Amino acid sequence: MARYTGAVCRLCRREGTKLFLKGTKCTSDRCPLEKRNFAPGQHGKDRKTKVVGYGLQLREKQKAKRIYFTLEGQFRAYYEKASRATGVTGDLLVQQLERRLDNVAFRLGFAISRRQARQVVRHGHVQVNGKKVNIPSYQVSVGDVISVREGAKKHVIIEQGAQYAAQNPVPAWLDADFANLSGRVLSLPDRKDVSLPVNEQLIVELYSK
Ligand code: SF4
Repeated sequence: MARYTGAVCRLCRREGTKLFLKGTKCTSDRCPLEKRNFAPGQHGKDRKTKVVGYGLQLREKQKAKRIYFTLEGQFRAYYEKASRATGVTGDLLVQQLERRLDNVAFRLGFAISRRQARQVVRHGHVQVNGKKVNIPSYQVSVGDVISVREGAKKHVIIEQGAQYAAQNPVPAWLDADFANLSGRVLSLPDRKDVSLPVNEQLIVELYSK
């Protein structure tokens, strides 16, 4: 499946905010945004115009896409599904993004970033209800037990992830067991339980034009 393979710190610099795509580096003074908080590229420093209207909506969409490492087609498909379902479209959009298996693996401490978590899933280290699932976009359901395959528990990325995640709050919709590298889905994610620096309403306005 296609994925973004470029430098990820550029994405934060383009959005002008930390998207936390590189785990521990993001909270250290090695974060490039600390020193170069301007858009990448030759004319990045010169871009000073205030973003409003369509531009603002576009930036919110790009931010969400980049945080969850999805490409345009898949992100749009999430929106289409959310807009057809009963409920608040923006909330349902965020809910689908949060229910992705790579995001859940990140939240449960199987990696220090969503990008790494995606790799952990792709390499077949994650199980759902005891069965290997290697599809990063797999949508978890209430009651699912997500765990790391026994043979992968000593993997350095996974060990680092558990240490990193143990310092951060676990969302209320998940029950994490960092010692055993597993967790359970307690409920579907509620927007108020998801820390996401994005105004999803602007994304809905963008797509519904
Ligand atoms: Fe973004 Fe993290 Fe890179 Fe800083 S270190 S620019 S927060 S990805």
